[in-house]
Amino acid sequence: MPQMITRKGEQMEKTGFIGLGNMGRHMARRLAQAGHDVLVFDIRDDQREALESHGASWAGSVRAVADAAEVVVVSLPTPAIVEQVLTGDDGVAAGKAARLVVDTSTTGPSTSRRIAEKLLARGMRLVDAPVSGGTGGAEEGTLTVMASGQADAYERARPLLRVIGKNIFYLGEEAGQGQMMKIINNTLCAAATLASFEGLVLGSKAGLDAKTMLDIINVSSGRSFATEVKIPQCILHRDFPMRFTTDLLHKDVKLCLDEGARMGVPMWVSDMARQMLSFAIGQGKGADDYARVIQFYETWGQTQFGSADR
Ligand code: NAD
Repeated sequence: MPQMITRKGEQMEKTGFIGLGNMGRHMARRLAQAGHDVLVFDIRDDQREALESHGASWAGSVRAVADAAEVVVVSLPTPAIVEQVLTGDDGVAAGKAARLVVDTSTTGPSTSRRIAEKLLARGMRLVDAPVSGGTGGAEEGTLTVMASGQADAYERARPLLRVIGKNIFYLGEEAGQGQMMKIINNTLCAAATLASFEGLVLGSKAGLDAKTMLDIINVSSGRSFATEVKIPQCILHRDFPMRFTTDLLHKDVKLCLDEGARMGVPMWVSDMARQMLSFAIGQGKGADDYARVIQFYETWGQTQFGSADR
């Protein structure tokens, strides 16, 4: 594969990107558009044409990425898949070129620490850099990034992180601290979102106008990402776009509760949120965007929040 040459005539380092789903496709595109020489791979090829049109090259496998790219960024769904792709047979750690892995997935601190150790044993570094801000933030490059890992590795990753994120936080050298912060954030998001669904469905049944409720909450103390962004953009007009699955949100809350149990911190309210998400998954809705969980409350309350009218 030809190396990209910069204006000064230097060979430009390749950046690998594995996992081109709801988040990864935007991050990889932004890196390619910012002039990085990006080599991408996903087990699904539905993003291939779009990414190639932005200048990225498509690799045939995880191993092909890691044989060619010194820095490999990943955006993968679950801790087990992240671990397999990074440290399994023919994974990134077996690659000839890969030296630094930047994991933007939500993997949880325990898995992240284990992966960091396995990579270190092969002379490689991990920067765990989970992100927040949803698909909109990924599209616009305004994600919040919560990074941890050895300082020199973080410094090396920083130029890439600045292409995908706006608020970049470094949480120190201890592996997994970025992940710890991220699962706490997402658990707060889940609890606030589900409580908002309950309140807004109650308000709808009581005859309050959907938009007016949001307008009031959003200048009052009940506001959150759910009331300011998620519900107005995804539910108010009944659009329900696919942005973040219930399966993945449940995974994040479960990772957080596991850490709470491990560290002796009770998390009763968060566990209620997990149970509601788990119920939705049990009803066959795990692959839907988590906005659709509101529809259970609407069925139980025999009412609807918002309408398709604009
Ligand atoms: P997604 O399921 O849309 O994308 C994951 C991608 O990984 C898919 O395209 C899938 O085909 C690919 N993949 C799976 N196994 C693979 C393998 N072995 N090799 C190569 N590719 C493989 O998930 P997403 O919503 O983009 O989330 C990715 C990560 O980011 C998750 O850890 C999630 O928790 C986290 N996250 C998501 C959001 C969001 O709003 N969607 C926000 C912040 C963080």
